[in-house]
Amino acid sequence: MTLALARKWRPRNFSELVGQEHVVRAISNALTQNRLHHAYLLTGTRGVGKTTLARIIAKALNCETGVTAMPCGKCTACVEIDAGRFVDLIELDAASNTQVDNMRELLEGALYAPTSGRFKVYIIDEVHMLSRSAFNAMLKTLEEPPAHVKFILATTDPQKIPVTVLSRCLQFNLKQIPLVQIRGQLENVLGREGVTFEIPALNLLARAAEGSMRDALSLLDQAIAHGGGRVEETSVREMLGAVDRGYLFSILNALIRGDGPALLAEADRMGARSLSFETALQDLATLLHRIALAQTVPGALADDEPEREALIALGRAFSEEDVQLLYQIALHGRRDLGLAPDDFAGFTMTLMRMLAFVPVEPGAKISTHPAPALPAEKPAAAQIVERSAAIETPRTLKKSGPSVANARPIEAELSDWRNLVGRIKVGGMARMLGDNCEFQGLQGDNIELVVPEVHKHLLEKTYTDKLQAALGDYFGRKLRLRISTGGSGKTPAEIENQERQAKLARAIESIDADPFVRELVENFDARVRDTSIKPIQ
Ligand SMILES: [Zn+2]
Repeated sequence: MTLALARKWRPRNFSELVGQEHVVRAISNALTQNRLHHAYLLTGTRGVGKTTLARIIAKALNCETGVTAMPCGKCTACVEIDAGRFVDLIELDAASNTQVDNMRELLEGALYAPTSGRFKVYIIDEVHMLSRSAFNAMLKTLEEPPAHVKFILATTDPQKIPVTVLSRCLQFNLKQIPLVQIRGQLENVLGREGVTFEIPALNLLARAAEGSMRDALSLLDQAIAHGGGRVEETSVREMLGAVDRGYLFSILNALIRGDGPALLAEADRMGARSLSFETALQDLATLLHRIALAQTVPGALADDEPEREALIALGRAFSEEDVQLLYQIALHGRRDLGLAPDDFAGFTMTLMRMLAFVPVEPGAKISTHPAPALPAEKPAAAQIVERSAAIETPRTLKKSGPSVANARPIEAELSDWRNLVGRIKVGGMARMLGDNCEFQGLQGDNIELVVPEVHKHLLEKTYTDKLQAALGDYFGRKLRLRISTGGSGKTPAEIENQERQAKLARAIESIDADPFVRELVENFDARVRDTSIKPIQ
């Protein structure tokens, strides 16, 4: 069940284009005043709306109501451009047409008058990929363009475009779309689609999209499928491999208590669940930022903010200086994570730095998200040292990819695809692609994967490239991905889903079976934390 929201909600006029107000204003003014340039260059990272904007410009130039900043969307030209079948709009992806022959052929056509429109519009995407000779061929036309020709060039990498071409284009730089605007658009789309959602879930999605509306909508598609028709925080968190806030609240509470063992136990639990420590540090910084807000501008927190109470309570437990300091430490910890022996060491080192620098007031307690105090039978520092030493060895072994890979044949690791995806350094959409693939075989340097039909929209070049690079890094050799659609549905995402369901069913069963068991489980749960720290003593 793929909705393809990105296609469905693709902006069709300037006013629908989110986050590019500065560019839209400049282009609209030029159109209204009929100050038309013959070549435009749209730059910006992927998914910010370059080709969408290019098509809207094409409509603005060819709308039968006249050149306008508000194309009607109803005339033949507008309708055909929206449907991608307007004869005078020629779209070319330079990434797949780097040959000069294509360019010559294309430009020869430019000499003839448009068939049905006012202008012949050439949209050349990823224009920096053109060969030098193709650029030269284009330059001739750019120098003396026929009056009926407009070029709209788009690129993620303007540095690679020859100056001679650049100087003949009117350049517009599209920004990465701010998180708030992406979230707003997701909210808008879900409202109109009639899908129930939780705001924190949208925040997570918007952040994962990293400024790209296309990615945000694509993630939203996934989230709706994953959440069985609704978009809820827990489900989205799980889908994105994001860190459960509960861990972060426990960490901050342990800091308030000055409880080193509890800090490490928390980190250990996160490690056991293969949560990303980098994301954890990022989330911790975000959380600290919100605590600082709660301290200084409580009005900035929305009234319906579900964590409002917890944030205010934490804001009271820490001094403002502490929060600033913890925030700095979290940022530095994240920055230095790549230099740490491994992510676990980097993360726990950051926590210990926090512990060392934040003065603890004895008896400081916080009521929300309480974590039971751990028995400190040894001085905290001694426990930390012993514990990290105990953890260090297996972690390091587990993490350093290539050495493990050399020890195990690459194919054996690949056939344990689910485990492998959990270990390679890949996140976001590329991770999701990995989670939704099945390993088929290894042919020379080609890793063959299949992705189920319903997830084939994950087959974006950027994501496959990232996944491919991560696998290459992990195995320390050049590998190529060949992904086709199909498969038996035994993808890591699917298996995890089934296991989750089974576990849940078992848990419910055992609890339902006997009230005595229920009591035991409750007591056991209360003791779990104790047992988890016993082995080090
Ligand atoms: Zn029109």
